[in-house]
Amino acid sequence: MPVVGTFPTIRSEIAGVSVLELAKQFGTPSYIYDAASIVERINDLKQFDVIRFAQKACSNIAILDLCRQNGVVVDAVSGGEIHRAMKAGFKPGNVEHPEIVYTADIFDREALEMVVKLGIPVNCGSPDMIDQLGEKAPGSNITLRINPGFGHGHSQKTNTGGEQSKHGIWHEQLDDCLQRADRGNIAVTGIHMHIGSGTDLHHLSQVCGAMEKVVETVGRSVKTISAGGGLPIPYNTKQSYVDLDQYYQLWDASRKKLEAKLGHKLTLEIEPGRYLVAESGYLLSEIRAVKQMGNNTFYLLDAGFNNLARPILYGSYHPMSIAPANGSTSRPEVDVVVGGPLCESGDIFTQEEGGFVCTRKLPQANIGDYLILERAGAYGFVMASNYNSKPLAAEVLIKNGKPHLVRARQSHEDITRGEVIPA
Ligand SMILES: *Cc1c(COP(=O)(O)O)cnc(C)c1O
Repeated sequence: MPVVGTFPTIRSEIAGVSVLELAKQFGTPSYIYDAASIVERINDLKQFDVIRFAQKACSNIAILDLCRQNGVVVDAVSGGEIHRAMKAGFKPGNVEHPEIVYTADIFDREALEMVVKLGIPVNCGSPDMIDQLGEKAPGSNITLRINPGFGHGHSQKTNTGGEQSKHGIWHEQLDDCLQRADRGNIAVTGIHMHIGSGTDLHHLSQVCGAMEKVVETVGRSVKTISAGGGLPIPYNTKQSYVDLDQYYQLWDASRKKLEAKLGHKLTLEIEPGRYLVAESGYLLSEIRAVKQMGNNTFYLLDAGFNNLARPILYGSYHPMSIAPANGSTSRPEVDVVVGGPLCESGDIFTQEEGGFVCTRKLPQANIGDYLILERAGAYGFVMASNYNSKPLAAEVLIKNGKPHLVRARQSHEDITRGEVIPA
């Protein structure tokens, strides 16, 4: 099992490259990714037949290419993600082990057109999708994403099952969906559940039980079962990884039971997003102001929730470290609030769910020192925006000790492209 690791508050290098060098070469704010960390996480999951990366977690084509080179296939949730996957070298096509699968709760018109034209298999999260596909592409194979009627997750915004979730096909509507598939001459070749059990293996065994019931109902057309994503990574020392061996054993036992019932082999997929990329990513920023508000010391960065939205969205905790511009390796620690540059009082990285501002113990720092938001590779850059007309950050991938610019920082002209003043 991977180790939780340490959370240093002073950092001089990322993946063997000096932070000061990175800042000088690429500027700030920049996302820096460590390729070796992604490859390690991929290798953790090699027991599964198929590792399907939920690219929405981090979809730069260089990251997708790295995944592909290491035997990983992808999920796409939009036409744009299909486009990215193909740009990274994944081949479309409804074959036995598809490289790209479209997973969503709707087709917008563009996505429907693309999956039909390219023959991309669809994992349907709503009954209506079956009819829409049947009309345009009878004879297709699909998989069904089932909501087993219960969910998991600490936050309303991340819970992916139960009555309150918009995701998947309600388990009691399975028969109706099979009839829809028959009418459209569509075969249901796989079942998928993405509940996000986290580290709760007892909960996971309930999910496996629900999967067995559904597959038995659908019957012999099923060739693939997918465990979905939701594998956690530790963002602080109190959190941990799930025991991957036990996790696999639970799913494999269900698979074997079902194989015995169906009389043929089943492919077992896993669909991680966060797990593969979270720890690989560092948001490198520069401290641009240090100020006192009553009893609170604020470090204000050139990065804000336009770059990393998880704290303001979910109250998420990210480890932080300082890279002193003078290279010093030890400094006394102080309690600080860390915020960004945006004209918005919620632009605070040290906040808890509900928006409560809190402090963090970090090394004493000055303007010009760098602050690194760590474990930011998942749902980091991909959720960035141009709020306050801030350019999207640069992205850098470090491979074998060498940094490569894999996305140029946006220019101001990039931001206004497409805008028109009417004559
Ligand atoms: C988001 C998503 C994932 C990945 O979730 P993680 O928690 O990042 O592992 C996997 N499958 C589906 C269908 C998703 O929507």
